Amino acid sequence: MKVIDKIYVNGEFIRPEGQEKLALLSPVTNEQIAEVALANEKDTQNAIAAAKAAFKSFSKSSRETRISYLEKLRAAIERREKDLVDVMVEEYGGTYQFCSMITHFALDDFDAMIDVLKDFSFQRTTGKAKVQLQPVGVVGIIIPWNMSNGFICTKIATAIAAGCTVVIKPSELSAQQTQIMAECIHEAGIPAGIINFVNGMGDVVGAELTRNRDIQKIAFTGSTGVGKIIAKGAVDSLKRVTLELGGKSPNVILEDADLEKAIPTAVMAAYLNSGQACAAGTRLIVPERKLDQVNALVKAVVEHMKVGIPSDADTAVGPIVSQKQFERVQSYIEIGIAEGATLLTGGPGKPEGLEAGNFTKATVFTNVDNKMRIAQEEIFGPVLAIIPYKDEEEALAIANDTDYGLAAYVFSEDRAKAEAFASHIDAGRVCINGLAHDSKTPFGGFKQSGIGREYGEFGLEEYLEAKAILG
Ligand code: NAD
Repeated sequence: MKVIDKIYVNGEFIRPEGQEKLALLSPVTNEQIAEVALANEKDTQNAIAAAKAAFKSFSKSSRETRISYLEKLRAAIERREKDLVDVMVEEYGGTYQFCSMITHFALDDFDAMIDVLKDFSFQRTTGKAKVQLQPVGVVGIIIPWNMSNGFICTKIATAIAAGCTVVIKPSELSAQQTQIMAECIHEAGIPAGIINFVNGMGDVVGAELTRNRDIQKIAFTGSTGVGKIIAKGAVDSLKRVTLELGGKSPNVILEDADLEKAIPTAVMAAYLNSGQACAAGTRLIVPERKLDQVNALVKAVVEHMKVGIPSDADTAVGPIVSQKQFERVQSYIEIGIAEGATLLTGGPGKPEGLEAGNFTKATVFTNVDNKMRIAQEEIFGPVLAIIPYKDEEEALAIANDTDYGLAAYVFSEDRAKAEAFASHIDAGRVCINGLAHDSKTPFGGFKQSGIGREYGEFGLEEYLEAKAILG
């Protein structure tokens, strides 16, 4: 059993003062595979003090220095790429397919930020003023367990480019993934105090970051509920916040889409990270007159997908991260049945042969009304809702009839038509005819999916304060 009994503060792995321990269970077997020591408020304050001290000189560092740190971080992370993939698969049950892809994206974050930094102007002239963009200060980074290291890379790449120092609070469920990432950062050899890690609970370490006056910004990724708690807490010290929150993304098949091509991709977008992805396209909005054909295609694609052991290269859907989250997903499947949606495939219970872990059947409901809870609430599991529309005006109304606005997907054979439709969707990122990612392109939510943007220039500006010098 792995024991993670240190946090990373001021360039050193040290034992936290906090005395509590948390058992980490395998989502495949529910047996204990690791234990993590949980830090307390004092540990968090020590990490903040280290980041504050490092900020004095790092905030004044040159563009070249920051680029060299980004290059060192990228190289150190790339050397451990295989370990990073393996630990994701083991710790939260991410599929090998998904974890390999995502870990590679994390490396792209550094390349993209190096490119952005090369041309970014920190000094501008606007009207009669010289405008100076300076680092906002010490940033508290609070992140979830799904793709934990990917979020760390996006946020530290941006913080380093801006000249900010950071204290990272990973999810309590991600201690093993974080341990390897902290080792990479240590091996990269950037000066002590610039990047610190504190393992601990949200209402202890996360709350201290949120309230501490030496933190100037919180960069949060996680649920909408916790995002609101953080935003409320941050108001007292008027911290800047970026909140990357939940989603219930529409996946719209326009009338002219080629269903044979579109449906397999649309299904992939729904089951991304076994359905445990903020950007999962979990509402499949389809022409009513083609509903039978869509149902047949979706059923065939989903029943062909392997739900199984995440380390198997051909597994498309792995287990749910924890027993608690498994119960939640199961309850939504029961809710869908009770609401009167038609169960097309899957359903309650575990797939045969996978009873020990938190495995859920890949589930699809059809004839779903967009007002139903399974169409409005984020389930965070492999549950897809097919919602029919009469015409494209109604398709757009359904797509936007949601509290969320993180991502959306549009399928059409006519690019111009798809772009026109995309321009009316209220979501931070709309992908046409498939899944796409670009580490320079802004990502973030409309409505209850968040505040602010990450990646590229838009992301960098969120870590800077504008100062006008005039007169
Ligand atoms: P969560 O909100 O429960 O936890 C996220 C982090 O917040 C964890 O580190 C947790 O310990 C911490 N936290 C909990 N209570 C806190 C408090 N009172 N103060 C400060 N911090 C606190 O989310 P989760 O279950 O780990 O992750 C799943 C959620 O994350 C989903 O809703 C998903 O949509 C969202 N998510 C969003 C994005 C995005 O980019 N928009 C990406 C991935 C996941």
